[in-house]
Amino acid sequence: MNLSETRINEGKLISLRNEVLGRLELLDKDKKRITNPFPESSDDEASASENDEVVNLLDKHNSAELKKINIALDKIYGGTFGVCSICGAEITKRRLEAVPYAENCIICENDK
Ligand SMILES: [Zn+2]
Repeated sequence: MNLSETRINEGKLISLRNEVLGRLELLDKDKKRITNPFPESSDDEASASENDEVVNLLDKHNSAELKKINIALDKIYGGTFGVCSICGAEITKRRLEAVPYAENCIICENDK
């Protein structure tokens, strides 16, 4: 991975991080809205807790994504970006285009 490719990925990761942070902020607002009102019927209660579940799931998903993005950015600054964390091989450009925060090469990923 050359320097300009790394810079492109850095830009992608930063905008992706902003996107995820925005989503997490919205979810946070959603959580506050859900926990506050008292449901009027049991139907409301059911859909509220269902929504709660979805929000929690999305929250987890986005938090995990944010973590991976931060790790990838750390790697960029540490100069180890694009290297598989399992076998040490270079992660292909194509894979990083699809998943800019990929930690493993496609072979190790499929091997998991
Ligand atoms: Zn690998």
